[in-house]
Amino acid sequence: TLPGDAAPDPQPEVPGWRPLHAGKVRQLYTSTDDPSLLLLVASDRISAYDHVLATPIPDKGALLTALSLWWFEQLEGWGLVRHHVVGAGPEHGVPARFAGRATVARRLDMLPVECIARGYLTGSGLAEYRATGSLAGVELPPGLDDGDRLRSPLFTPTTKAAVGLHDEPVDEAGVAALVGAERGAQLRDVTVELYSRGAAVAAERGVLLADTKVEFGLDPDGDPADPASLVLGDELLTPDSSRFWPADGWQPGRAQPSFDKQYVRDWLTSPASGWSRTSAEPPPALPDEVVERTRARYVEAYERLTGRRWQ
Ligand code: ATP
Ligand code: MG
Repeated sequence: TLPGDAAPDPQPEVPGWRPLHAGKVRQLYTSTDDPSLLLLVASDRISAYDHVLATPIPDKGALLTALSLWWFEQLEGWGLVRHHVVGAGPEHGVPARFAGRATVARRLDMLPVECIARGYLTGSGLAEYRATGSLAGVELPPGLDDGDRLRSPLFTPTTKAAVGLHDEPVDEAGVAALVGAERGAQLRDVTVELYSRGAAVAAERGVLLADTKVEFGLDPDGDPADPASLVLGDELLTPDSSRFWPADGWQPGRAQPSFDKQYVRDWLTSPASGWSRTSAEPPPALPDEVVERTRARYVEAYERLTGRRWQ
């Protein structure tokens, strides 16, 4: 969060749960009766150009929670890795005020690696390629452009930096130093496979999954050396953890239209906003029309990917 950005939502007291952490867009609680349980609450906050905006997008927290839960359900059929979700209903202890945007999860010993897989070249992956000709140690053909598809998806992990610091890329040896060589190889294989399965589902619905980030932890009751102790945590294949592009708008050589934040980014960089990316000021409040179109984009992403109607 940059100075002057919207402050995180206040973290309300709820019976049965103790506040643990207020992130930029999510809040974390731990159960007062069972320390092995966490409550993850998604807010309607949206970030753009590294700022958390003052204007919330109605239903964003609920849409991303529902989408993540849907992917966790799909994951159960993939036979790849276990996940941390316990449930999301009142019977699991979700307080009424958070209904629809909260998930109860098993608390894990999180691994200090942000596991990223990329199938397309853009963002920091593109910057690394332009500077070095390679990505995460893999030499790529010359002449690739923004939005180009990679021949095969690559694992491009980063460190999980402390608050206020930027995540830094790590190579295979760096991951091995953090979690051990065997666990590192497992993280790479599972992350790339998760990406590929997710991308295949999205492709059937006209959506390109450009890249995604997942976070893993170890089952606190398991043997830390056992491969089966690995559990997928955090969120899965949402627009906050992934880049989704409408397949019919894909055209390498420029920034791709994004499924979620396109209207926000376009408006912020248009003269109408009176704001500049290089400005020291936080971005202005969003007009209602931009909020409504952005919300409609999140709904469309949810409906396309899951094949379900929103509400
Ligand atoms: P920010 O998003 O503000 O930069 P952040 O990533 O710490 O910071 P969130 O993503 O809102 O904030 O918080 C979720 C936190 O919970 C992350 O640190 C994530 O690693 C952690 N987490 C997710 N699932 C689990 C789990 N099952 N057990 C323990 N920690 C988890
Ligand atoms: Mg996070």
